[in-house]
Amino acid sequence: MPTPERESRGALQPHTALLHQRHWPAAGFDSVQPGTFKASTTFFPNMAAWRRRDWLAKDGFIYGPHGTPTTFELEAKVAALEGADHALLCPSGLNAIALVYMALLRPGDEVLVPINVYPANRSLLTGELAAWGIQVVLYDPMDLSTLRFSAATRLLWLEAPCSITMEFPDVRAIAAAATAAGALTALDNTWGAGIAFSPFELGVDISVQALTKYAAGSGDVVMGSITTRDKGLYDALKLCAMRWGVHVAGNDAETVLRGLQSLPLRYRAHDATARLLTQHLARHPAVARVLHPALPEAAGHSTWRRECSAAAGVFSVVFQPSYTEAQVDAFVDALRLFRIGFSWGGPISLVLSYGRSVAALEPLDGELVRFSAGLEAADDLVDDLSQALAVLE
Ligand SMILES: *Cc1c(COP(=O)(O)O)cnc(C)c1O
Repeated sequence: MPTPERESRGALQPHTALLHQRHWPAAGFDSVQPGTFKASTTFFPNMAAWRRRDWLAKDGFIYGPHGTPTTFELEAKVAALEGADHALLCPSGLNAIALVYMALLRPGDEVLVPINVYPANRSLLTGELAAWGIQVVLYDPMDLSTLRFSAATRLLWLEAPCSITMEFPDVRAIAAAATAAGALTALDNTWGAGIAFSPFELGVDISVQALTKYAAGSGDVVMGSITTRDKGLYDALKLCAMRWGVHVAGNDAETVLRGLQSLPLRYRAHDATARLLTQHLARHPAVARVLHPALPEAAGHSTWRRECSAAAGVFSVVFQPSYTEAQVDAFVDALRLFRIGFSWGGPISLVLSYGRSVAALEPLDGELVRFSAGLEAADDLVDDLSQALAVLE
């Protein structure tokens, strides 16, 4: 194989020769990591190839935002993880949610959304899409009699479980009802991460993930994915993404590719730690309720048991009603290993107090605090909780 140095430079000026020197051929180089490809421009061999370009195909390269070897590789892996046939990357989990809405909804359409949906999803709907003439209809995911389909219902949104109050809905039954009513279904699978359950086996049409959380797992990259088994839906989503200029950076895709390699192991570690912490917290007299789908008293526990092989590392605690916001804030501030911040799925344990004003299915009578178990030794996290809970005594 000729090395690039030996390539003929002909009569070109040195700086032109530098620019036009070919890259090392990728074929023949085999290593653990796939490498990072970055491009705005990708070259066509001739005009005939340019005229044949197909924005929906993945067997060639057209322009950086359409895809690179790195983004196509990550899309193939996310599709495999979710048991889907097609995947599309977005610059954030929230953007992936937005893209589903933008690709599928038109003025006059209705979208059914759970009352306890991820708060940023709800504010996207009410703050932006409502002004485009899209009707947002809320339903209680734990009470199927609240599902109201009409001729205008185009899409039903699902989350399993709710990411703050942790109720686990009967996805299979809700998806079946929506499909029977002629509506498409999309599920925010950030919690399940492709590990705990398969949305497509439960009858969902589209799965969305914030890869930001467990897939990346490192707390330093923001990315989303949309997966589906339906080529027609994929085509609509991909065209919408191209029209809106949706694109992810090669270095970020490489970070997520790296994260995916350890995702199953990390997910189970987060799961085990979280379950240990919930047991510890449930025994404390200041705690009224621990919200985690694996607890027998949890809303939707039987569905979780039927459909899931694991649980993520997020859970919430509702304190006894007598504890004030200031007292619970003092508990949160006293934690040393649990850091205060948004997101979850990274190596560092996180905590946030949502108070009593969460969009819950039933009004909260005590302060709600959400935890994300990181990858620290579980005993150290238990000790941290114990010393901080002492502030409440
Ligand atoms: C974090 C999160 C999102 C949004 O992901 P970003 O990458 O932060 O935009 C969407 N859904 C759920 C359930 C989340 O936890």
